Amino acid sequence: MNFTRAYKTEVDLNDKQATGCKRHAGAARFVYNWGLARKQAAYAATGKSPCAIDLHRELNALKQTELSWMYEVSKCAPQEALRNLDNAFAHFFRRCTLKRQGKFKGKLGYPQRKTKKQGLGSFRLTGAIVVFPAAIQLPRLGRLRLKERGYLPTTGVKLLSATVSEQAGHWYVSVQVEQEREAPTTTGPIVGVDLGVKTLATLSDGTVLPNPRHLKRRLKKIKRLHKAVTRKQHGSKNRKKAARTLAKQYRRVGNQRANTAHQVTTRLAKTKSVIVIEDLNVAGMLKNHHLAQAIADVGFAEFRRQLLYKASWYGSRVILASRWEPSSKTCSRCGWVDDDLTLGDRIFRCEHPGCGQVLDRDLNAAINLAKLAGSSSDSQNACGEGSAGASRWAGVKLPSVKQEPNTRCASA
Ligand SMILES: [Zn+2]
Repeated sequence: MNFTRAYKTEVDLNDKQATGCKRHAGAARFVYNWGLARKQAAYAATGKSPCAIDLHRELNALKQTELSWMYEVSKCAPQEALRNLDNAFAHFFRRCTLKRQGKFKGKLGYPQRKTKKQGLGSFRLTGAIVVFPAAIQLPRLGRLRLKERGYLPTTGVKLLSATVSEQAGHWYVSVQVEQEREAPTTTGPIVGVDLGVKTLATLSDGTVLPNPRHLKRRLKKIKRLHKAVTRKQHGSKNRKKAARTLAKQYRRVGNQRANTAHQVTTRLAKTKSVIVIEDLNVAGMLKNHHLAQAIADVGFAEFRRQLLYKASWYGSRVILASRWEPSSKTCSRCGWVDDDLTLGDRIFRCEHPGCGQVLDRDLNAAINLAKLAGSSSDSQNACGEGSAGASRWAGVKLPSVKQEPNTRCASA
């Protein structure tokens, strides 16, 4: 079976190529903003909005007169930018529909103008793309040297498109490919994973993965750099310089966080047959200002996203346990429920006569989660019987592995 995925890696540009990339990113940004303004104006006048194809036709006519500078960039960059704009509106309308049905609570996300202040952005190219072990050849830009040799696949894949993007002065290329899915090979134990802030993850087999707290370690420095930016005069060169230094720090935090998440999720997906995690309400948890920063620093949502698509790659299964299950409050040996357990209690003490189990709170929760894998397969066979154990875990969603290929992933 074929699936689509992406490989993202850093490119090493010479001055000429860097100028070319900036020009392409600038054209994509300009066309996106132009298209947005055209759509808004047309909608206000006629109640109808032109689609990407209409806009591209209009743009081609303008290219012959006032936008002649656009001949310097590949025709793909503006074309794909208009396609992105159409997608942005499609997603906005989809969220509007969901909100009306009461299935969505977040922001609607009306498409916004792109600004250079938040990085130079990106552009997508299609057509003649060739990958070499240490370089990639793109239309108009020529052969760009890759910083990592041999990461991009050169054989056995169909190249669909290449997206070039900038972040804090570094340029990346993300190649979208269609490739054959290897036969799933994962045969391993069942494991429950309790995600937390004190420790990043506690596994039911007793493994504890410490939380590296990448943001917290740099917070003092980042706060100082933020102050340095705001103290410089608006529009000055020094302000720009300070903003750049700050962006570099954030880039570092992001890279480290991504590295940790990728390493942990790949290890789990490759070595465990069934992984049970709690279906945490991350958006809701972030509303708690005391916890928000610590939770965002762990990156729960990203962790879950990676685990789900990697499980489908390597043939393991992910079970999302309902967030309402008392996995922390329940004794993993006898099932006694401690209703008085608070977030501050790090040790679980069972008060059931004849049990008296004492163990780490997170480990207790992880073991409870691992048990769900067994009880959920029971409840699949004996549907509706409702034994005491099964009814207690009735909220388990099964199976929750997302089968659609993930195209947004960068490096595994
Ligand atoms: Zn007990």
